[in-house]
Amino acid sequence: MGRVVSWTGHPFVDAGLAAIAAVAKVQDLAQLTPLHLKQAAKELKRVLLSDQSLGVGVEKSFAKSALSQLFPNSELVNPSNWKGGTPELKAQSVRQKYAQAIDSDLQRAKACLQAGGSELCGICGNQCPAQSVLVVRKDKVPLLVGGVNFYPALSAGMLICGLCAFALRFLPMAVLRTSGYKRLWFLHTQLLPVATEIARKYGWHHFDQCIAQHTGLDFYGDWETFGDAGTVLYLLCDLLSNFGHQLRSIYQGPTPTTAYLFSNDNRSSYVQALPIPNELLRFFAKLQARSTSSFERFWHDLLKVPKSLSKEQLKIRTRFVQVVANRMLRTEQITGACLDPETPQLLGGWEAHRLYLSEVLGMSQGKLTILEQLGIRIAQSSDAKKRINELRGARPNELYGILLRYVREGWLKHDEFYTLLPPNDYSASSEVRDILLAIAYEWEFCQSQGKPFPPQVGTIALTPDETLKRIQEVGEQLCQKLPNLSRWIGQLQTARSTDGIRRAYLSAVRSGAMGFAEFIFLAPLGDKRRVWLLRDYLLAFLFERARNELPEEELVTVGSEAETDIGGE
Ligand SMILES: [Zn+2]
Repeated sequence: MGRVVSWTGHPFVDAGLAAIAAVAKVQDLAQLTPLHLKQAAKELKRVLLSDQSLGVGVEKSFAKSALSQLFPNSELVNPSNWKGGTPELKAQSVRQKYAQAIDSDLQRAKACLQAGGSELCGICGNQCPAQSVLVVRKDKVPLLVGGVNFYPALSAGMLICGLCAFALRFLPMAVLRTSGYKRLWFLHTQLLPVATEIARKYGWHHFDQCIAQHTGLDFYGDWETFGDAGTVLYLLCDLLSNFGHQLRSIYQGPTPTTAYLFSNDNRSSYVQALPIPNELLRFFAKLQARSTSSFERFWHDLLKVPKSLSKEQLKIRTRFVQVVANRMLRTEQITGACLDPETPQLLGGWEAHRLYLSEVLGMSQGKLTILEQLGIRIAQSSDAKKRINELRGARPNELYGILLRYVREGWLKHDEFYTLLPPNDYSASSEVRDILLAIAYEWEFCQSQGKPFPPQVGTIALTPDETLKRIQEVGEQLCQKLPNLSRWIGQLQTARSTDGIRRAYLSAVRSGAMGFAEFIFLAPLGDKRRVWLLRDYLLAFLFERARNELPEEELVTVGSEAETDIGGE
């Protein structure tokens, strides 16, 4: 029993193996037989030695230009192979040289499949017969030398097996161009259906179309999107959209997927890896499974750059697509960037953003549900416009005051306030604002379109942590022991400085409604920001618990920028 073809872990070789599997139409690399390899070699020669590849009767020679970026000095580039008087004769000579080279690669690859041997392949690590291995340099293995490469110590060349060398020949069938910068890239994934589909559609099929239309070959790059990250994500959406039933479960698998941007140009070779987070693949797959229309809205709103746009619109649009696509690949916040206050609209739709927040950013269902209920409440209120403007214009520290007012109004419970604005996360308030606006915009959008708002799925089940428990205990004691609760709350909510807050606490200590330990807990020295934050939690508790004893005054002071700066003491 001989060797079975399998993934090597080397991105360039794996991409070539996928292209072989695509043309051989196998479902598993292990099914590849010598006959498949022969058939694949024949197809490769047909495409790369076509007139449209060599530049016979078409404007440009793909073999001598774009393809040479993958394999400089290969048989197709080497000037000594382009001999003869007429273009036809030159093409004839190069066809012969290349076909010979492929045929010997094929023989070596077939030998590898026979049985083990004494030589060790530097790429796949298999033991191979001596007649099946060869020493290669960068003309055969892209980026074998260069600033960043996979085998830096082997610039003199390295020993690889015939099968790996043969697979590398097929790399052009897996390579694409990004939109905008036209950089070369390919997706390294061991998800075979994904990898073969890319090679089939954008490699083999794309080149066949060029040949049929008699246009010069080039790598596929006709995307309706912009930028490197944009192209990668667009492709993933495109595949999912066309082959959802097949790919959905695969996108949820844990295999790492990486996009490699590269050039093997003699002057400036480089490779840049863009790892694709698994949670992002899972997010796309789940979204599409949940709702095709939500998936398409998100994909088109966030990644599509229609060719019909005017120059001015194009500039704005490409910038937006670049920003959100890069953020998605880094698994960062995107909601704020997708708010369009002019329309007003949430680009991508709430259903998709909600799933992005939970799947990619790990936001809890409880927190999402609190935000959803509050956002809808704001959108449904009689003064929605005023409230939305207030949220939009508020500085991060002012948002604490706005949310406290929601507690006072009974729209938010004190533990919900605590969940939305947790301790030690001062960036949470901007995120909360963006999400509330997103929900309110979506609500208005659904109303105007006569569409239902996406169904709510989560429930709120909160368990207080140590800090909140302590706030609840202190608050409860104050409610029971303070002689004039209403006046005291008024004093606390209008305090203009941390000193003012301390004075309110000290008066509670004096009247026996608060112990000294509680005082130290609520007003730690040297951390003004925390003093304000804990005061807000306490106020939230009191607003809810002592609803009937609240002072008339509604204004809640917020810590000034200077007061709440870290280390501002
Ligand atoms: Zn090998």
